[in-house]
Amino acid sequence: MAKVAVIGAGTMGNGIAHVFAARGHDVELIDTSDEFVQLGIATIGENLGRQVKKEKITAADRDNTLARIRGGTELGAAQGAAVVIEAIIEDRDIKFGLFRDLSELAGPDTILASNTSSISITEIAAQTKSPERVVGMHFMNPVPVMKLVEVVRGLETSTETIKSVFDLSEDLGKTPVEVNDFPGFVSNRVLMPMINEAIFCVMEGVAEPEAIDTVMKLGMAHPLGPLALADLIGLDVCLSVLNVLQNDLGDDKYRPCPLLKKKVAAGHMGRKSGKGFYDYS
Ligand code: NAD
Repeated sequence: MAKVAVIGAGTMGNGIAHVFAARGHDVELIDTSDEFVQLGIATIGENLGRQVKKEKITAADRDNTLARIRGGTELGAAQGAAVVIEAIIEDRDIKFGLFRDLSELAGPDTILASNTSSISITEIAAQTKSPERVVGMHFMNPVPVMKLVEVVRGLETSTETIKSVFDLSEDLGKTPVEVNDFPGFVSNRVLMPMINEAIFCVMEGVAEPEAIDTVMKLGMAHPLGPLALADLIGLDVCLSVLNVLQNDLGDDKYRPCPLLKKKVAAGHMGRKSGKGFYDYS
């Protein structure tokens, strides 16, 4: 099994490391501090533990999966990986800098993938020496559960790279779907305006959050209402994606709801901060 490097051990990065290690890949999980790396590995341990309890995997599967993950803070550990998947903070300049560094240590066949929700894969690829081997590999949250991988083709991404990422995703038990590189791709271009509209409904007093979510769950067969989903994704992430849609598509129909801005300003980020549209304390 090919070695894989995952950069960023947060919500998405630890989920991505989890699924690759569970499938038998050796995984280097890299973050900026030991604390974040250990937190990421502990989360993987907890999630695997839940699967053992539900008898979906054995205790030996859990131990073998964890043994395949090596954590660290040195980017150099990504050297020799067949695929590097970036899942760091959604910040254009920080991602660009990271891809410039990754381009230096990548081998001639290394695929550099980004899990970005909204930043242009074409622009990320332009930071590297081999844009044909740069691709979007957009996993959904929670990664071990969700089947979709939105595979984003940048302007110069080669068909060979797309095929490799399709094969890899299918081997993980996921369903890859190819989309072209436009702001928000398909997933967030369609999802975020719905979440934003649900937040406008709260702000304008159309209904309480529970009522809005119930309408969408029972009326539209959504497994999760838009406000509960926003809390799961992180309200700061929702805000930054809406900002990208508004700026990059140049259309004010994507303007973030003032209530969303207010919640983020107050530090109410959703589940991860304990408070968003719902209280998780
Ligand atoms: P997160 O904040 O949970 O984790 C980000 C991690 O990256 C943190 O641990 C941080 O320390 C680390 N990091 C920051 N800069 C770094 C650097 N230079 N090198 C190494 N590590 C660094 O964020 P997340 O929710 O996991 O999101 C990660 C990416 O995935 C973002 O691009 C986001 O848009 C995307 N994404 C998020 C979701 C979601 O539902 N949260 C879904 C799909 C895609």
